[in-house]
Amino acid sequence: MTFFHKHIITGPIHSRRLGISLGVNLLPVTEKLCNYDCVYCECGWDTRWEADPSELPSPQEVEESLRTALQKLKDQGTRPDSITFSGNGEPTLHPDFPRIARLTAACAKEYFPQNPPLVTVISNATRIGNPEVVDALSHCTKVLLKLDAGTPEMYARINQLQKGFKLGAYQVDDTPEVYYGQLLRNLENYPHPFTMQTLLFRGEHEGKPIDNTSGAEWEAYVERVKRIRPAGIMLYGLDRETPAKALVKLSKEELESHASVLRSLGLENVQAFF
Ligand code: SF4
Repeated sequence: MTFFHKHIITGPIHSRRLGISLGVNLLPVTEKLCNYDCVYCECGWDTRWEADPSELPSPQEVEESLRTALQKLKDQGTRPDSITFSGNGEPTLHPDFPRIARLTAACAKEYFPQNPPLVTVISNATRIGNPEVVDALSHCTKVLLKLDAGTPEMYARINQLQKGFKLGAYQVDDTPEVYYGQLLRNLENYPHPFTMQTLLFRGEHEGKPIDNTSGAEWEAYVERVKRIRPAGIMLYGLDRETPAKALVKLSKEELESHASVLRSLGLENVQAFF
């Protein structure tokens, strides 16, 4: 079953990676809008590739909804562990993401001054070539950037870049190979500490095998990690129903075994979430 965020603010829910998480959705509440169409996306397949920014919540609407939710939680004596940008697509595609990230960080401190919740961004990292987005992310306390593949071929199969996608001035106008090269360069040159997030799984889609867990593909991924050297890595397995039906969830032992390989590179903060 497709999992949609039906409002700007959702939850809080208990997240396996973030604890008590209050979700912030900057995309439409009725459908997914993303420059990727990942085969495992819990929001299902993309239904369209073009939208006008006026269809997205304004900074004022986000702030109002966020303040209402935070006040309610505060009145209940509940402090969320994280205010989390995720939602029905890639949050950094919102043209006002920089302003919204700053106001969210300010609200976290205002409502819980003694121990502000983390402000987390779960991002596919396609916008970290934009200095304004990088600056906005520096106001967030936890930045999770996606890298699912060690080669452009597996990247194209898993993440399915939507060539032709358009949202305001932003558009996807080149091939997956070009975008994958940019993604690697931007991750290598990212100026702040971040956590890399990687979903490990096997299966097939449209007759083509998908496997980022073994052989040359896994070795290529490890080589990418050696160059990027993120502050942390979150490896995780499939959790919800996926739009591509022939995908296989890794066992806890397999995930842990892959995490051990990455730890052996001298990376201290490698976590596996089953
Ligand atoms: S980047 Fe995230 S929202 Fe976009 S298709 Fe992939 S999983 Fe879905």
